[in-house]
Amino acid sequence: MTSRNEELFAAAQRHIPGGVNSPVRAFRGVGGTPRFFALGKGPRVTDADGKVYIDYVGSWGPLILGHADPDVLEAVQTTAARGLTFGAPTGAEVEMADLLCEMLPSLEMVRLVSSGTEATMSAIRLARGFTGRDLIIKFEGCYHGHADSLLVKAGSGLLTFGNPSSGGVPADVAAHTLVLPYNDIEAFNEALEKYADKLAAVIVEPIAGNMNLVDPGKAFLQALRDGCTRVGAVLIFDEVMTGFRVGLQGVQGHYGITPDLTTLGKIVGGGMPLAAFGGRKDILTCLAPLGPVYQAGTLSGNPVAVAAGLTTLKKLRAPGFYESLAERTRQLTEGLTAAARKHGVAFSAQSVGGMFGLYFRAAPPTSYAEVMEADSARFNRFFHAMLDVPGEGHYFAPSAFEAGFVSATHTAADIEKTIAAADAEFAKLV
Ligand code: PMP
Repeated sequence: MTSRNEELFAAAQRHIPGGVNSPVRAFRGVGGTPRFFALGKGPRVTDADGKVYIDYVGSWGPLILGHADPDVLEAVQTTAARGLTFGAPTGAEVEMADLLCEMLPSLEMVRLVSSGTEATMSAIRLARGFTGRDLIIKFEGCYHGHADSLLVKAGSGLLTFGNPSSGGVPADVAAHTLVLPYNDIEAFNEALEKYADKLAAVIVEPIAGNMNLVDPGKAFLQALRDGCTRVGAVLIFDEVMTGFRVGLQGVQGHYGITPDLTTLGKIVGGGMPLAAFGGRKDILTCLAPLGPVYQAGTLSGNPVAVAAGLTTLKKLRAPGFYESLAERTRQLTEGLTAAARKHGVAFSAQSVGGMFGLYFRAAPPTSYAEVMEADSARFNRFFHAMLDVPGEGHYFAPSAFEAGFVSATHTAADIEKTIAAADAEFAKLV
């Protein structure tokens, strides 16, 4: 019998490349048919066949309050009724900028955009305009959206500039990006030595969530901070994923390290298309209309998106919010680890705040190379088994190389249900 998900996926491929509007949704890594969702409420989503899942993706991070939070919905509906967009300033944008600068001490000024890609792309341009230099450093396994200069993989040698990792990216553009191993202080210092006076910016996911979850620890980030200060390069923390996710002040608060620029997205828009980049005032004032670095957007600071974001951010400040989110997330990672150990499955897991990584290897990875050693065939079997649990399924990210997310609406009982299902599946994986 063909399911409605299968029918939709076949239909989708007629007019949408690969049937999806963002590649990882196509289930290419894990195989099978993507679920087409029709409904989300709290920690649960319902697909086109009416099957319900406990959701550990949360739209890839934004839904820290769960699906369809009543306060966010009300703010969106009330605001939308007053006009969807003006292409002119609104008071709510001012409130949003003030709130972001208050919540994240490294932000002296901030500009709103509509996606994480725009935030990182603009931050790189701004850093180049501010320093008058072209070269940037990124790290293997970090994803910063799909701007040309960031779709770059390592070149042939450690200290040679990168090659495009996507078709359509000119080699000339990639040649301005140096790709270094993540969490390798020595390689970074060596690169600095060589390119000190040419380097505009270093961009990093300060805790990586796009090669599964990799926490480099404080020493690596401190080395980046010290190195950038030494050579006058702009340190950009890409906190599109980690911002308001690992804690109220992101990784910069978690480790107490202050970047020059920060990019934000996902949670900042509460499920609507909103993102931001901000930081030092002397850098931000280089932006048009004050300075020579151009950046703009028809829908930038969109009132409906700002309303969703503002409502979300205010709710995160409730006392104990992150303590209970972290506790729930830990319950999941510890429960899964214990269940796997019981059955002798080589597995580990860890969490930071409301973000987690699951690894089919004995210990959490600390580098891209270690991430690549995990058993992705086993992950794929686990993923599908959890998805297909009779009754309520469990929806994890459809890739062994993505972090997962818990929301404030996941209850201890929801997490227990997932652990019990995993326990049964681990028994079959051996
Ligand atoms: N930076 C990071 C760290 C991300 O995780 C992502 C998206 N997953 C982006 C940038 C790009 O954001 P967007 O998909 O909103 O363009």
